[in-house]
Amino acid sequence: MLKKILYMIWFVLFCIAVFFSLKSTNFNAFIDMIENRTFDLRQNIMINAESKKADDDIVIIAIDEATYEYILDHYGEWPLPRDVYVKLIEYLETQNPKIIAFDLMFVKSLKSPTNADEALINAMKKYKNVYTAMNLDNQDEDLRTPPKLPEKLAVNVKNYSDVNFEDLTFTNCRSILEGILNSTENVGMINVSRADDGILRKMPLFVKYQDKYYSQLGLKVAIDAINSSEHNKIDPHNFVIDGNSNLLLGERKIYLDKDGSAILNWYGNDKTYEHIPMYKLIKIINGESQKSEYNFKNKIIYFGTTASALFDIKTTPTGRTVPGVEVQANFVNNILDNNFIIKADKAITILTGILLALLIGFCVMRINSAFTASFASISIYLLYIITSYYIMKYFNIWLEVIYPLILSTLAFVSAFIVKYIIKSRDFEQQYRLATTDGLTDLYNHRYFQEQMKMSVENCKRYETEFSLIILDIDFFKKFNDTFGHQAGDAVLRQVAHTLKKNVRATDIVCRYGGEEMSIILPNTGKEEALTTAQKICDRVANNKIKLNNDKESQVTISLGVATFPYDGQNASAIIDCADKRLYNAKHNGRNQVGKAE
Ligand code: GH3
Ligand code: MG
Ligand code: MG
Repeated sequence: MLKKILYMIWFVLFCIAVFFSLKSTNFNAFIDMIENRTFDLRQNIMINAESKKADDDIVIIAIDEATYEYILDHYGEWPLPRDVYVKLIEYLETQNPKIIAFDLMFVKSLKSPTNADEALINAMKKYKNVYTAMNLDNQDEDLRTPPKLPEKLAVNVKNYSDVNFEDLTFTNCRSILEGILNSTENVGMINVSRADDGILRKMPLFVKYQDKYYSQLGLKVAIDAINSSEHNKIDPHNFVIDGNSNLLLGERKIYLDKDGSAILNWYGNDKTYEHIPMYKLIKIINGESQKSEYNFKNKIIYFGTTASALFDIKTTPTGRTVPGVEVQANFVNNILDNNFIIKADKAITILTGILLALLIGFCVMRINSAFTASFASISIYLLYIITSYYIMKYFNIWLEVIYPLILSTLAFVSAFIVKYIIKSRDFEQQYRLATTDGLTDLYNHRYFQEQMKMSVENCKRYETEFSLIILDIDFFKKFNDTFGHQAGDAVLRQVAHTLKKNVRATDIVCRYGGEEMSIILPNTGKEEALTTAQKICDRVANNKIKLNNDKESQVTISLGVATFPYDGQNASAIIDCADKRLYNAKHNGRNQVGKAE
């Protein structure tokens, strides 16, 4: 019964701990931070296992260190005059690429000659597969008036989920060349979302600006790429986020985290997308080099800066720092492969946590050896971690591991505590059972013998004395015969009670056997013991004993007293002496304390 109550208390405490841990936002943020780290670790292992191959059709034309130097050498400064991009576009278009996307922003600039800007605007107007970037921010309105963006750049998002775009709502925007904004829809934003630790794990698919939604550049690029090669076309203007936080893209579903970002799955190890230094292509269009070793047919071409001087470096969960253009490529790759990470629902996390906790709690309670129980508990949790890795690897599902770890640890510790409470209680109970007599609740014969030996040792060591009283109920056989054994038992209980009531707390009252009882009186001399014995004798004789049929009866006892060290040098001699004097009492007519001969 008590065991059950303890189990219940354990479970209730455990639930309260879970409840409070889930309610505290600070605690949540802390847990999320560690959880993110475990995500990084999983991604890192997956990348080293090269489980996901990067798409060959995505190519990066990199403004790398060499290109940067080349541009400074040949054009005197960065940014590059925009007609050079026009020539690059014209050259690439002859090879029929699928898409040409610039992870670059063509902002209004006094440095850029108007005719070069004009040429770029015309090229963007002419080629429907050329894309460029914009970026939204929260820049102070006094420094820069928020520009109006053309209606056609905005998209409709029907949000049936609890995804909240509040963190992705911006008040300002860098001014992209108006001519570009007016001549093409192919402008996508390139905002990223970084966690508090600065690591880029997620990409927003839409941001809000002046009450309208704008798509991520990579989303536009990927939809165009899908529409140009797949049967089922995706509407790039109207989007639906269903009740399960999935953005529906034809057959693809992209899971959005609560803040409206998709969690990226990372590709490849050091070799991901082919990087072609841009200067090599500039050399071709300038006639400085002849043959092109590159084939851009059907490729998704991404222009972007990788030179450290141009500073567009992001830290990823895999531990690598990558240029922003590679993040874009990775994002597009995720959409094409329908490969984003799905974060398991909080309810599933809590449920798995509770299951693990129960399993571990059960192990600790049931396994006797603390070492084996600990080993089993750790194994269970490790097994869960390994499972969570494979679930991410094969199903893209992010099962949280830290909450379950906390629950498991709580269960582990509390189960151990409860187990030891129960154990110590069992031990106490067993000790009691082993030392007391069930009928009278007095100490039993074995305990009496132990205490006698100990008393002798103690008195020898400290040169003190102790006394022993042995007593026996008079004519008890007759009493039993007359009133029955049950009445006899009641008498035994009653006499035991009288003994306990009339001695000191330090005196040890035992049932010697049958209807014989004994009292060890530590630090008690002969006279004192005799007085106590006489007192007990009188009390028992005066006690009326109630019998079943409303009748009353009385019993008397005979007693014998012996004192260490005067009456014997060891326990058995003392017992013998007391016994002899008890016999004397019987012999002299009972109901008395026996005299020494
Ligand atoms: P005396 O005055 O000489 O001690 O007479 P007596 O009848 O008490 O003597 P004896 O020691 O021969 O009898 C002891 C009786 O105590 C025998 C037994 O029936 C009874 N007895 C021993 N243990 C128990 C018990 O646990 N319950 C009951 N009801 N009777 C017991
Ligand atoms: Mg007897
Ligand atoms: Mg007797």
